[in-house]
Amino acid sequence: MKIKENLSLIKSRIPESVVLVAVSKTKSNKLIMEAYNSGHRVFGENKVQEMVLKWETLPKDIEWHMIGHVQRNKVKYMAPFVSLIHGVDSLKLLIEINKQAKKNDRTINCLLQVNIAKEETKQGFNVIELDLVFKKLQSLENIQIKGLMGMATFTNDNSLIESEFKLLKSKFDLLKLNNKKFDVLSMGMSGDYKSAIIIGSTMIRVGSKIFGERN
Ligand SMILES: *Cc1c(COP(=O)(O)O)cnc(C)c1O
Repeated sequence: MKIKENLSLIKSRIPESVVLVAVSKTKSNKLIMEAYNSGHRVFGENKVQEMVLKWETLPKDIEWHMIGHVQRNKVKYMAPFVSLIHGVDSLKLLIEINKQAKKNDRTINCLLQVNIAKEETKQGFNVIELDLVFKKLQSLENIQIKGLMGMATFTNDNSLIESEFKLLKSKFDLLKLNNKKFDVLSMGMSGDYKSAIIIGSTMIRVGSKIFGERN
């Protein structure tokens, strides 16, 4: 696998302002170190235990992003080091993240996951709930909501994907009006990051186009 080449190809295709999260879930430390040695520092995992193991063994200047669904009882394990939690999908989870952040004497950056897809299986707040959630958030002092995250429907229908990304982008723009710290819109994966960036993504999560297909 030509990890270094894959990374530089993707980086050459995206604006410098867009953050590339290299999704390393299921991939070995050896492969992650190949990306690291080519200069990459931002990695995404979808399982807390796997991310903790990698954090313990790999260089400490790696920025670890949790991109998967998070169970509340696992938050404590990543609270000391996680740099951004993308998949926040309930107030109860936010309250737990706030509690664990306080214990670690830090602020944890979070994105609210929005359910923009037609599929039943996708996690996240629905677009209408978001405003309410936002109001309730003000009392949580050890979390910082940096923006939104969403996943499009898994389909070949580009017009559907684009309409879902546009919905997320418009919600992001609205919330941003009242939130100066709101500057991350996490959307786009290996198959759809180009459309996502055209529509306004500021952060893409790319796995298989860097590390190869997962088993
Ligand atoms: C696995 C995963 C990705 C990366 O998917 P690829 O298609 O391999 O780029 C991005 N986002 C989330 C939430 C994921 O779970």
